[in-house]
Amino acid sequence: MSNLIFSFKNKKIKNLKNPKNILGGKGANLSEMGRLGLPVPPGFIISTEVCDLFYKNKKKLPKQIVKNIQLELKNIEKITGKKFGDLKNPLLVSVRSGARISMPGMMDTILNLGLNDQTVKALANKTLNGRFAKDSYRRFIQMYGNVVLNIEDHLFEEMIDNHKLNKGVLLDTELNENDWNELIQRFKELVKKRTKKNFPQNVQEQLYRAITAVFLSWESQRAKTYRKLNKIPDHWGTAINVQSMVFGNMGNDCSTGVVFTRNPSTGENLFYGEYLINAQGEDVVAGTRTPQHITKKAKAAANSKEATMEEVMPKVYLDLKKTLEKLEKYYKDMQDVEFTVENKKLWILQTRSGKRTAGAAIKIAVDMVKEKLINKKEAILRIDPNTLDTLLHPTLDKKAKKKIIAKGLPASPGAAYGKVVFTAEEAEHLNSMMQNTILVRVETSPEDIHGMHAAKGILTARGGMTSHAAVVARGMGRPCVSGTTEITIDYLNKEFKAGSITVKEGDLITIDGATGEVILGIVPTVQPKISEYFSTIMSWSNEFKKLKIRTNAETEKDSKVAREFGAEGIGLCRTEHMFFDQERILSVREMILSKTKENRNKALAKLLPHQKNDFKEIFKVMYGLPVTIRLLDPPLHEFLPKTQKEIDEVSVSLKINSREVKDRIDELHEQNPMLGHRGCRLGISFPEIYEMQCEAIFEALVECKKEKIKSVIAEIMIPLISTDIELKILRNLINRVADKIQKKHKTKIDYTVGTMIELPRAALQAKEIAKYADFFSFGTNDLTQTTFGISRDDSSKFLNDYINNKIFQIDPFVSLDQSGVGELIEIASTRGRETNKKIKLGICGEHGGDPNSIEFCARTGLNYVSCSPFRVPVARLSAAQAELKKKLFDSCC
Ligand code: PEP
Ligand code: MG
Repeated sequence: MSNLIFSFKNKKIKNLKNPKNILGGKGANLSEMGRLGLPVPPGFIISTEVCDLFYKNKKKLPKQIVKNIQLELKNIEKITGKKFGDLKNPLLVSVRSGARISMPGMMDTILNLGLNDQTVKALANKTLNGRFAKDSYRRFIQMYGNVVLNIEDHLFEEMIDNHKLNKGVLLDTELNENDWNELIQRFKELVKKRTKKNFPQNVQEQLYRAITAVFLSWESQRAKTYRKLNKIPDHWGTAINVQSMVFGNMGNDCSTGVVFTRNPSTGENLFYGEYLINAQGEDVVAGTRTPQHITKKAKAAANSKEATMEEVMPKVYLDLKKTLEKLEKYYKDMQDVEFTVENKKLWILQTRSGKRTAGAAIKIAVDMVKEKLINKKEAILRIDPNTLDTLLHPTLDKKAKKKIIAKGLPASPGAAYGKVVFTAEEAEHLNSMMQNTILVRVETSPEDIHGMHAAKGILTARGGMTSHAAVVARGMGRPCVSGTTEITIDYLNKEFKAGSITVKEGDLITIDGATGEVILGIVPTVQPKISEYFSTIMSWSNEFKKLKIRTNAETEKDSKVAREFGAEGIGLCRTEHMFFDQERILSVREMILSKTKENRNKALAKLLPHQKNDFKEIFKVMYGLPVTIRLLDPPLHEFLPKTQKEIDEVSVSLKINSREVKDRIDELHEQNPMLGHRGCRLGISFPEIYEMQCEAIFEALVECKKEKIKSVIAEIMIPLISTDIELKILRNLINRVADKIQKKHKTKIDYTVGTMIELPRAALQAKEIAKYADFFSFGTNDLTQTTFGISRDDSSKFLNDYINNKIFQIDPFVSLDQSGVGELIEIASTRGRETNKKIKLGICGEHGGDPNSIEFCARTGLNYVSCSPFRVPVARLSAAQAELKKKLFDSCC
């Protein structure tokens, strides 16, 4: 029972090995800030271990915990001089969730707990501020009603809106004590109607039910979705922080705000935040009032007229500034800080590492190295490789014509276009049909998270730069325009109005999260410029990584892009992709449908010059680097004519009637083509196909040599082998063609021959196979398919069931199954190296661009990974991180 409840000041915290695992991020930081001497209201932490006990105890708090909570509550009473439920000087507390990793807005929080019909009067008397006391009470009923009693929040909000409408005012701050009294009455009636009970007046009951509700929110649908998206294990559970309340809504010398120590969108080293005078925390994030800037600089940059905190409360602003500087220095990272000012006194309610865009993450990491806050290794480990993708994707073409219909806040950078949808469900539905959407909401809430993920961009009418929409979109790397007050949304009629323009559900719009523009229709995009910070991180990655990073490419264009991103060669050139070109497909079809070798050779002769040119173009781009060319792999039926027009075309050029063509198509039909006549089996049955491809490769190499282009290292790869004999036969074939071309041109050609390992038998037989292989490339797409016996083309239909039932943590076609498929890779690597010490080992399945799989490849001692061009930077960073993590692991174990 030692790790269950801790006061913020508990000395044992210092000795905890992984404080965040037990106290949650928020709790650990609150107690740490206390130790740093920062102004933190007193409180205690109910640990994540209690969450575990709670769920094991049929979702009830164990008795011992209840006792300990009472003791800690007494402790807060002693420090504050207030008493929980007291009729003179009542203590109010907040009950807030706090998981190991922050999950913004995903779990529940209750503020102002401890108020009832009596204590509210005491609070009014004590503070001489009846309005403030009543405002706090109505907030409490509203939050408690929503979180504990499951009453929809909008029902409370609508009552407030109607009251303001009747009174002819716009802002909550314009409501007086009597207004809140009336609303409290109506809120309580709503509670009675919905729960058939009066609003609970017993403050102890309030506390325990609130703690129970916050624990239960760990299992809420939105929290589960967030965990799934962010790969947070379900068994972690949440801690809970119970803390004495401080008030930002007591009058005009009070305020509340959220501030980042640097700009989370751009990474600029300037405070970035918002605050509201006479308000409580949720007002800032909920977007019900538009918050003001904190610094004069931010005000000027946004061209705003509203007074800043720096101007209105200069002394408190200086306190805040000092605190922020101290926090950043201490945590050596950009902080996201929540604060409250109560009668001119600053209180810090939370600090955590701020969520940031990929661009900001890179700039902050590089800047902090320059500022000597962290070193290069720490900088590399700070960046999530998966987020780099967002920096490499297009932004709006500045020259394109744009019909801007509204402008909001540039909440999360990037451009996106899509059909307008008004619900998260519709965004998800259209996404499943591969359609782009922009999710348009008055404001988003955690319930929308699945739709925000499914949409390409998010547009909201309300909410500032730290609103839910903005924070979540930045974390997800989705473009977002928030606080677009120029639009009015009509959910009922599924439309929004921007001035005189009405945009209906399904209409296309574009949003630019870097400028806040909302544009009618689709706007063309351009490739982004790579920033100097990005290049710096990439070059630091190269200093630490050991794996080579190659690319999967079969066109000159893709090869160029990949080389610019730092690819160190091609790990997989799928030659069949070259066969689909308009000019060639007819010859390919002729080749497949020919019944005689003679006809097949005629068709192949037409293809040869095309293939040679393709290879030459790629060799020119990849000069000096290795290029692995895979000979034809897919089942032939993929190329067959499907329409009558295509059948007629082939029948004319092959001079056979279309009936015969159809018969031949039927002959070639396979029940299970993925396990049929494909891969090296084609080379065994139709050696002339592979001969033509090798001739094209060698001729291209000779031509490059003649043109004095620095040579590539040509690696010819045989797909889908399962026996050493297959490889032996085909290696001989390649050597024969090489001899022929060398003799023809009286020149020497350098090349190597290797194979893909993509069948379990090949992995197990690696020792034999390595006799004929200079390299192995693990084709983990097929290796995953054949190891699990799960079709890579059909698995999406049931994979979700496997993930929901926790059979799979993650789709094995996305991230390598390290224990099963991984073991085969390890076996093949060891056995292959027993025969051929110098054998080169790489991976070219989709896993080559996945950070966790790359870490596995580095640990297993592969020589390279190969991935799609846009994943090359992701792979470079992941490979560096893999080496650094190896060292961390070696030094701690
Ligand atoms: C593989 O199977 O992993 C592979 C790279 O080949 P393909 O995806 O072309 O089957
Ligand atoms: Mg394959």
